[in-house]
Amino acid sequence: MIEHRDHHCVFAGCDAPSHWCDVHHLIHWAHGGETEPDNLALLCERHHTKVHHGFRIERQPDGRWRTYRPDDTEILVLPRIPDETVRTRAG
Ligand SMILES: [Zn+2]
Repeated sequence: MIEHRDHHCVFAGCDAPSHWCDVHHLIHWAHGGETEPDNLALLCERHHTKVHHGFRIERQPDGRWRTYRPDDTEILVLPRIPDETVRTRAG
């Protein structure tokens, strides 16, 4: 089950849980894509719409996902800074 691999929306920066997500075919079955885990990705409704409007997600051999804008630049998400660190810096 794809839900057990991806756990949540694979779009950069999104952690919508799997029960909010649709299974997206990276290569549409009409274009020869197969219903196999390598061709499937979990995407929430919002991001599912985006990848059908020019955005692109790509799975790396190590299982991590990359997200690209319609102009082919990658969407990079910085790791979240824990609240504690922010407070220390502010103090
Ligand atoms: Zn999402």
